[in-house]
Amino acid sequence: MATLSDNDPMLTPVMRQYFAAKEAHPDCLMFCRIGDFYELFYEDAILVARELQLTLTARDKEKKQPMCGVPYHAAEIYLQRLLRKGYRIALCEQMEDPKTVKGIVKREVTRVLTPGTAVDPGLGAGESCWLASVVVTKGGMVGLAMIDLSTGDFRATEFGSWALAVDELSRVKPVELVYAHGGLGLGSGEKGEKQVLRFAKDDKFSGEGSFGLDEIKTKTPVEDWVFSAEHALPLLRQQFKVLALDGLGLGGHEAAAIAAGGLVHYLRQTKQGALEHLEPVRFYERSGSLELDAVSVRNLELVEPLFSGESAQTTLLYTMDGCCTPMGKRLLRATLLRPAYSVTEIDARLEAVAEAAGDLRKREGVRRAMDGLLDMERLLGRVAMDSAGPREVLALAATLGCLPGLRTAVGAMGAAKWRELGGGRDEKQVLRFAKDDNDFSGFDSLEDLHELIVATIVDEPPVTFADGGVIRAGILPELDELRELSRSGRAALVAIEERERARTGIGSLKVRYNSVFGYYLEVSKSNLKAVPPDYERKQTLVNAERFTTPELKEYEAKILTAQEKSLEIERRLFAEMRARLLAGAGRVRETARRVAEIDLLANFAHLAALRGWTRPTIDETTVLEFAQARHPVVERRMEESGSGRFVPNSGYLDADAGPSILLMTGPNMGGKSTYLRMAALLVVMAQCGSFVPAERMRVGLVDRIYTRIGASDNVARGRSTFMVEMTETAAILNTATAKSLVLLDEMGRGTATYDGLSLAWSTVEHLHERIGARTLFATHYHELTLLADKLRKLRNVRVTVKENAGGIVFLHTIEAGAASKSYGIEVARLAGLPNAVISRAREVLKLHERAETQQVATAMKDEPARQMQMTMFTPLSQRIVDRIEELDVDDMTPREALNLLAELKRELKG
Ligand code: ATP
Repeated sequence: MATLSDNDPMLTPVMRQYFAAKEAHPDCLMFCRIGDFYELFYEDAILVARELQLTLTARDKEKKQPMCGVPYHAAEIYLQRLLRKGYRIALCEQMEDPKTVKGIVKREVTRVLTPGTAVDPGLGAGESCWLASVVVTKGGMVGLAMIDLSTGDFRATEFGSWALAVDELSRVKPVELVYAHGGLGLGSGEKGEKQVLRFAKDDKFSGEGSFGLDEIKTKTPVEDWVFSAEHALPLLRQQFKVLALDGLGLGGHEAAAIAAGGLVHYLRQTKQGALEHLEPVRFYERSGSLELDAVSVRNLELVEPLFSGESAQTTLLYTMDGCCTPMGKRLLRATLLRPAYSVTEIDARLEAVAEAAGDLRKREGVRRAMDGLLDMERLLGRVAMDSAGPREVLALAATLGCLPGLRTAVGAMGAAKWRELGGGRDEKQVLRFAKDDNDFSGFDSLEDLHELIVATIVDEPPVTFADGGVIRAGILPELDELRELSRSGRAALVAIEERERARTGIGSLKVRYNSVFGYYLEVSKSNLKAVPPDYERKQTLVNAERFTTPELKEYEAKILTAQEKSLEIERRLFAEMRARLLAGAGRVRETARRVAEIDLLANFAHLAALRGWTRPTIDETTVLEFAQARHPVVERRMEESGSGRFVPNSGYLDADAGPSILLMTGPNMGGKSTYLRMAALLVVMAQCGSFVPAERMRVGLVDRIYTRIGASDNVARGRSTFMVEMTETAAILNTATAKSLVLLDEMGRGTATYDGLSLAWSTVEHLHERIGARTLFATHYHELTLLADKLRKLRNVRVTVKENAGGIVFLHTIEAGAASKSYGIEVARLAGLPNAVISRAREVLKLHERAETQQVATAMKDEPARQMQMTMFTPLSQRIVDRIEELDVDDMTPREALNLLAELKRELKG
């Protein structure tokens, strides 16, 4: 810690400024501008030096004040690296020009950068950068708001339970989460609220239902009143200039509105530019979509690989991403995470995809028209934040210039969805304006904004404003005149240079310019003798002297004033253009939204045609049927690596008529998990409106997909594999409905065999009797296959293997029936276990199989289902059984028998 305190008389004035700034922003790394550097001190310096591998020095060697710094001009890179690591940063700037101020310059914190508020220029095209807020209101509702400042996308929603809100958060994966420090509106004792209280107090999220939240690196507590209805709601109304929340579609959604208002407060507080241009917040509801909880999103590898660090090629997103534009890529990701739950909506998409898939010319017309499209939303975001340079604005124009072509290409399509997106051709209008083939309504191709930029900015503008020359000639006579003046001034300087060379006879004499000394005549040391007396000395260098003359001063003043003025005018004209662009921000966003959807559908069509996918049938039944289906990701990877052909498989489930549960058995490596995942991915694809890799598929709308697959990386978060498994299973059994799809893979594996088997058994029964969800249940507990005799809607299926002399061959086909063997030892042999271990395992297995089959067979014969579970799995000590078996009862006296019984009982007790 610092060895000095902020009121120490020994402190230098700069350090006093530093301490004051740090006190006001204790949670930030304080970047303090001193000359050409940002300097950090004390523990900030130690931390930053370590994180960025900078050299740690000491400001005052004696007092040992640790310090490190980064050059002001290169600061951006360092700042971004720290933000990516989740740090918050305050920029303490010099508020006065050191050249013009005597003594110490004023310093103030002008901006606070946080991972969610500072847009990372290195953000991937398909990625979003969400800043989120969460609040629990007095009524117990949980409000969530989120904004992506790179695009301006601002949304809010609310939930009746904390668990659902957390689930949504872990799906959104914000880079930063803002919340009220004290846990607002708590006190009713409801479970979810207590958790908020806990995280609010501990400043960390823990406990049930908090899956994934520890992945949010930056959690920012703010004062409670920020998220109070009294403060947040008026702020929100004021921000978006509406009288009532209904105007924003937030009427009746107070929790969502408070979360959004609190977020606006936070943005204002961190001093983000141009907040008046924020797109109005939109309310959204999750219920209109197929719900995928965080566990399923991860297990199914929809958008990210299961284990971080693995290649993204295992994800469905990677396999399905043939989008042309960043907007399309983002929408694809969002759609995969939230597929639709409406036959009409899905059918409309499928119809559009079908048309485009079947017509190469039209499809390519649309895709080619999107070829050069840059990220309109993000470019506009940069314009709004005032961080877009002239070249970026011109890039926006280039993108806008592609829109009319896209509108025409989409206009060639006939499906209702295409007409809606492209602005269908109005037949009456076509008759009236028969010549104008481009006259569609709906799709705003923003020609006026394109025109505005192109007419304002030169064709090849400089990167920054500093040199001027950004604005076209002919826009403002005053600007043209000033430019002419500085041009003629410069020409005069060239003339002066030539004249002075001739007059002095110094051939190397030059007229030069720098920002400190202005214009000067430079003469090398060796020529100093020839310098005429009217030259005034300005500066001495090692090899040269610099001079000025009254004439030069006069031109300098003229040129510099003209330049300054013209720069000022350029800036003003640019700002005016920016304001006009931002006035059209809503239109740009609406068009960007359409472009994204056009791209998404064209992408689906492209994939369908390229990979031979077919159109699924969607209806309101509870059927799930697929014939000759392939796993989209595994199939593609096999093709790419040339490692064989994916074996297609079929399946049929019907929650009403049965079978509602397929119980899969078969050897390890047989393809059970692949089959389960394939079924879920195909449902996701179908409900997104995409074609699917199957000969035929029928989906009765699925409301939720649940997965309990394999071990997950939660062990690293301090929860045992079994606990994770049971928590996930509990979530399924508590919330699945008859319209859900449930995948359970190797349930019960993480605990003692009999416990696991019993739990798996009763879970299957519960799903069958109470929930009725379509379920795929893969298991190694062969005992479960007996359930087929008891449960009407349960069918056994197995993965097939072929046994030959050399061992087993996986056929990867699924067929009816229960597997007779598990082949675990065979698979272990394939994996390279020593022969001695393998043969011993075979011996042990035989012993176990004999004992178990006898018990189970007896139990099945005599007991009704419920009792049967009890007896079947009661663990009997094999030793006791063996002793009883060995007895010759006829040879025993009653006393001996009683003694033995007492002894066995003692042993059992143990
Ligand atoms: P375990 O019980 O050990 O988890 P499993 O039965 O779930 O095994 P999977 O993990 O699904 O088996 O598949 C094992 C391997 O077989 C994987 O490499 C997978 O790519 C391949 N495979 C699975 N299904 C098929 C298929 N239909 N066609 C071709 N290869 C397949």
